[in-house]
Amino acid sequence: MARIAVLGTGIMGGPMARNLLRAGHEVSVWNRTEEKARALAHDGAQVAGSPAEAVTGAEIVITMLADARAVDAVMLDGGALDAIPDGALWLQTSTVGLEATERLAAIAEERRIAFVDAPSLGSRKQAEDGELLVFASGPEAARSRCEPVFTAIARSHVWLGESGRGTRLKLVVNNWILCTIENLAETFVLAKKLDVDPRRFLEVISGGGTDMAYAHLKGEMILNEEFPPSFPLRLARKDAALILEAADDAVLPLTRATSAQFDRAFEQGHGDEDMSAIYYASAEKAGKRS
Ligand code: NAP
Repeated sequence: MARIAVLGTGIMGGPMARNLLRAGHEVSVWNRTEEKARALAHDGAQVAGSPAEAVTGAEIVITMLADARAVDAVMLDGGALDAIPDGALWLQTSTVGLEATERLAAIAEERRIAFVDAPSLGSRKQAEDGELLVFASGPEAARSRCEPVFTAIARSHVWLGESGRGTRLKLVVNNWILCTIENLAETFVLAKKLDVDPRRFLEVISGGGTDMAYAHLKGEMILNEEFPPSFPLRLARKDAALILEAADDAVLPLTRATSAQFDRAFEQGHGDEDMSAIYYASAEKAGKRS
């Protein structure tokens, strides 16, 4: 059993910390909005008053924060990096993109802390059920030290080699997911325009080669116009921008259009709703609820 610090106990980090506690680890937690960390005290977590306090004495530090700016704020400005014991392991599970991953890996190396780039696939439910799929990469020597964490939070993991490989795969998978949600939203808009019940569309694809569970899951949210966030739109928008940044001059017209749609829905005020609220960015809806 390990002493583990979890920095960031939001939609993903909260359940991850809870599953680490269930597995018997000693877990300290810190979150900018303290009440989200406090909620874990009932599960046995030690609630720290600062990032530096949380990582003091930790063997493994997990960051599960919104973006690179948040990781910088917590690890650098918040003093966590300076307070991590020498020889500890830093599992960076937030989605921060390629450039930031490379920068953070270099900073960790200077501090002689093993850095593992470990973004994951799965959303709120998979995090709660300990069923994430982790895309891990980093120094080979750190690999076995990650196992107890992966066992507690994930259904499985893949080890991809040097740091950054995990983030590369994460960006590829998220490109598929983000473009798919825009496709689904537009398909619903078209259905309504043509006076076709979107439920009819879901029925006819059901069980066939073009079906996917995701269409039903997210389609239900769009049909009900209820978007409790599993993956907040503001973070999906961030990921679309990270994909385009990493893609550099690759021609990705669909990703560019999807990214613009996320921008639009965000500007319409849907940032804290689930990413399927990208639906409102389609011209027909013009940002209004029906
Ligand atoms: P979330 O619920 O919004 O949590 C974000 C966390 O970052 C919160 O702890 C938040 O603190 C903290 N934070 C944001 N800005 C900060 C700052 N400037 N300083 C300190 N802390 C800051 O998001 P999430 O869904 O858990 O996502 C976390 C990461 O996992 C993101 O990189 C996301 O892209 C990735 N991810 C999400 C999903 C998903 O389906 N939700 C799936 C895979 C990966 P407060 O509570 O104070 O706001």
